[in-house]
Amino acid sequence: MRCPKCHYVASSPGLERCPACMSEWSSPSPKPGSREWLAERFKAYTEAIVAVRNDGQKEYAHDENNVFANFDRAGKALGVEREKVLMIFAQKHMDGIYAHLRGHTSQREDVRGRIKDLICYLMLLWGMIDES
Ligand SMILES: [Zn+2]
Repeated sequence: MRCPKCHYVASSPGLERCPACMSEWSSPSPKPGSREWLAERFKAYTEAIVAVRNDGQKEYAHDENNVFANFDRAGKALGVEREKVLMIFAQKHMDGIYAHLRGHTSQREDVRGRIKDLICYLMLLWGMIDES
């Protein structure tokens, strides 16, 4: 590997920075579809889901000690379990994903946003099951 900045030639592979000038060497992106690529994608997706959750929490829950408060409220008002309320929200995103797979492209929301939201709802459901 030859440093693009100082042209030092390093013999050992896989270095993250130049041993001579210490400038950072960007590692080549893994090949799409490879195991390494998917591992990177999973990391990025996980971070994206945590971000969605943090935003949603600020927007909806309003109760630090009950992260499911909005589902509890709607469930109580409608006389159904909070899990059912959650699944209705989740279904909306599932419908959007099916529509995308049928070739309908939404101007409003990218299908990846819907996938992210659906995963987030399923993780909330997981949390509800763990809590009860
Ligand atoms: Zn260098």
